[in-house]
Amino acid sequence: MTDRYAVLGHPIGHSKSPLIHRLFAQATAQDIDYTAIEAPLDGFKQTVLGFRAEGGRGVNVTLPFKLQAFEIATDPSDRARLAGAANCLKFEGERIRADNFDGVGLVNDLQRNLDCPLAGKRVLLLGAGGATRGVLLPIAAEQAAGLWIANRTADKAHALRQDFAAHAALHSGGFEALAGHSFDVVINATSTGLTQEALPLPAGVFAPGALAYEMVYGKGLTPFLQQARAAGVQRVADGVGMLVEQAAEAFVWWRGVRPDTRAVIDRLTVPLV
Ligand code: NAP
Repeated sequence: MTDRYAVLGHPIGHSKSPLIHRLFAQATAQDIDYTAIEAPLDGFKQTVLGFRAEGGRGVNVTLPFKLQAFEIATDPSDRARLAGAANCLKFEGERIRADNFDGVGLVNDLQRNLDCPLAGKRVLLLGAGGATRGVLLPIAAEQAAGLWIANRTADKAHALRQDFAAHAALHSGGFEALAGHSFDVVINATSTGLTQEALPLPAGVFAPGALAYEMVYGKGLTPFLQQARAAGVQRVADGVGMLVEQAAEAFVWWRGVRPDTRAVIDRLTVPLV
């Protein structure tokens, strides 16, 4: 019997998840049906429960529902609990298990696909929204030499540092606080890749040999990546690998089979020009 899965968001028309999971299923001979569902802004829980009642086995969750996904879970993983957000649910009878694969997806993309081990690196996360919250601890677990969060609204960065103080030593501030500091890995986890706005980054923020990583994907050279290139950064990447790697973790969790990600990343990659 075909098992049903879906991605829930609002809006959802842009989602690549149905294509990614179809490609994974073909490659691993898994009999699944995977659709995109636009849940009403005030109807996330009802949509999830309705999908489960119709035989759904699990869902991916994207903006703006990751916090609500965590809240409706009966069994959140430690990762989801620490992030306070979930991007994947699995239904087991009346139980709703939740996990958050954004962090492991990013770390796998950086370390495996982009050959950028994080141990000993100075890492800067730009942004203090849900994406940063989800990736902070998985990055910290890789023994980075230092981990900074810089955000337009500095108080949100400080609040994140305090929330995670028991688990990781973080620095926080506004963008101006970055003056005089350089980083080996600079990750743009703001949504400016979608709005094509530039960030007020001080000169010198990219260390020699740095990697600049834009979490938004499929938008070519975003203003952040253009800033990096203008600062002489050779290694730039967008978030397509993170997207595919987090999907692969969900697929393994649901199906017990690990799909190869390389071919899927190549298929979805938009050239950074
Ligand atoms: P979010 O919770 O809405 O947070 C948005 C962040 O962007 C906040 O830190 C906000 O700063 C900042 N921001 C927005 N406009 C800005 C501007 N003009 N200048 C400076 N900062 C600005 O969003 P999110 O869930 O963290 O997601 C962030 C991005 O990551 C999204 O675009 C999403 O597509 C991408 N993402 C990609 C993947 C992937 O798999 N590749 C996974 C997750 C997320 P303030 O706090 O000051 O408002």
